[in-house]
Parts: sequence; structure tokens; C-alpha cells
Amino acid sequence: MNIYSQTVTMLEDYFKSSDENTAKARIVFKELYKGKIHSFYDIKMLSESIKQKLSNDFTFETIELLTTSESADTCKFLFRLHDGHTVETVLMKHDYGNGVCVSTQVGCNMDCVFCESGKLKKIRNLETFEMVGQVLYLIDELGIQISHVVLMGIGEPFDNYDNVISFTDIITEQLGLAIAARHVTISTSGIADKIIEYSNRSSFNSLAISLHAPNNDLRSKLMPINKAYPIEKLIAAADIYAKRSNKKVTFAYIMIKNVNDSDECAMELAELLGDINCYVNLIPYNKTRSTSYEPSSKERIARFFDILKKNNINVTVRREFGNDVSAACGQLSADYRNV
Ligand code: SAH
Repeated sequence: MNIYSQTVTMLEDYFKSSDENTAKARIVFKELYKGKIHSFYDIKMLSESIKQKLSNDFTFETIELLTTSESADTCKFLFRLHDGHTVETVLMKHDYGNGVCVSTQVGCNMDCVFCESGKLKKIRNLETFEMVGQVLYLIDELGIQISHVVLMGIGEPFDNYDNVISFTDIITEQLGLAIAARHVTISTSGIADKIIEYSNRSSFNSLAISLHAPNNDLRSKLMPINKAYPIEKLIAAADIYAKRSNKKVTFAYIMIKNVNDSDECAMELAELLGDINCYVNLIPYNKTRSTSYEPSSKERIARFFDILKKNNINVTVRREFGNDVSAACGQLSADYRNV
């Protein structure tokens, strides 16, 4: 087992099943993330026999940085995993703090037509420690303070549900990195069943849904996942999440020229979301290597924005990040040759 995959609850269960005091779980977790230990023998408060047992049962294995590409407000990191696969992580420097965009899978099976990340089919899920490693590397090795985490790198977080939930539990834990739960955003292409499962939890992160189209015809063309979970199901699941969590859901909507950016689309979108506690985040489309889509013009985005606003939808336009180093949404591919 990897120690960076363990939530506090998992460690408590571990100590319980070894007939040990579960308070030791909290000591180990704290020493790991606050004390930055890399060996159990560095934990003073534990007996020699427990240190030995922990050392036998857990490894500290993590991910390895291969390359970095930097621009004014973004830095992209390519990491190598233990089996030779690679993933990308993006650091975004906002004026309110640093955000990190974490990958959750090697490749992605969602096959959204506009997205570069899906061109590489899913090879495997990331283990929890491989997601924790992406954040921890920036904090510990590079000394960067991180206030926000978005699960918007390569992969579909809800197609790797259990590991993703452990990851968010670990990074938000007060004894450790203590990143504010509301500053951690899980983004999903719309796996409605998992949104409902997530709604049954007792604590919540922020949830973003990649919507990108206001009706089934268009959405199924852009995002094959819509055939499994059509818009009615997805919106119903989003509503359940919003009500149970008492939080607004964010709907991401990329603006692609002449595809989903008409006045009719805006009106249909307003109609669709009118009763949901939500924000719409309009994202200018980022050009990718393998598609011929173009971004909507600024004027078109402004007009789309106005229509939503007039229909009482909370709407923002997302600032673009990282386009110059192919680190923007949908441009991540973890292709070593293109770095
Ligand atoms: N699979 C999850 C997590 C990825 S988040 C999801 O789909 O939500 C990455 C976001 O960038 C998604 O909203 C995705 O639809 C969007 N995206 C993909 N390609 C893009 C592009 N070329 N330009 C802008 N956004 C893009």
C-alpha cells in the first residue's frame, strides 16, 4: 500500500485492525503532511514496533517530474508514473492565489470531439497517491502555496470515483494540507449516476459539469457520454446535488464558433437551467492540434452572455490560461514528444 493513498479514516481502520489506538492514525497523517517525514522512523511519538510494522506495510513511492514549461501565468508539469506512463499538471497563478489543475486518469475514454485529452484512450486510473503527488510536488519540492485545486486535467474524475474521493478527502484534511473544501472543484463530463452518489455524501467540494450544449441532439454529437446520460438525467442529477449540498453547480460551456454559440442555443440554455441553483461559466474554445473548431468571437460570447443574464442566469466568462504552452482546457495530452 502507498501511504499517500491513505485517508485518515483508512489509517484509523488500519490501526484498529492491528489492535492499536486509532489516535496514532492522526499522528501519522499529521507527520506525513505537516512534518514532511519520508520515513516512519522519523516519527518520534511511535514505538519502534509500530514504526517497523508501518514500514513493512506502506511505501512512500511517488511520481517523478520530467519536464516543465512555463509562461506568464501558467506552468505545466509533465510527471512520470512508476509504470512509465506520463500525466500533466498545470499550475495557474491567479491574483487570489495559486490553483493547480490535476489529472485523474492516464488518457480518457469520454471521447469528446473537441478535446485533445481524449485522443489518447484511457490506459488506467490514477491511484490516489499519484493525484496527491501532483499537488504535493508543487508544495513540497517547489515551495509553492496552493489555495485551489481543480480536477480538470486529463481524465474523467467520476470514472475513477473512489480514488478521486480519497484524494479530495486527503488534500482537504485539516491535519494535513488543509485546502478549503469549497476551493476543490471536481469537474465531470456528466456521469449522472456518480453525481447522485456524490450527492449522498455528508461533505462536499465544488462541482462543475461540462455541459457545452443545451439539447440532446447537439450534446450527443459533441460528447458521446450524453448517449448514456442524456440531458434530462444530467440536469436532474445536478439539481439533486445542488439541493443536498446547498451549493451552486457550475455548468461549463465552451463557446465554439457556429456550433453551440447561437442566440437560440443561449435561449435554450436559459430555459434548461432556469430552475437550477447554478452558475454558467462561458469558456472561449481553445484550439487544439487535432480538431478544426474555432473559438467564438468576443462579440458572440458577449451576446450569449447577455441573453443568459437577461434570463436571470448567473453567468461568468472564464479567463484564458496557458494557451501559449498548450496547458489550457482541452489541450493537455501528456504527449512527451510534444512538450
Ligand atoms: N472529464 C472532466 C474533467 C476535464 S475538465 C470533464 O469533462 O469535466 C476539462 C474541461 O475543459 C472540460 O470542461 C472540457 O470539456 C473542457 N475542454 C475540452 N477541450 C477544450 C477546448 N479545446 N477548449 C476549451 N475547453 C475544453
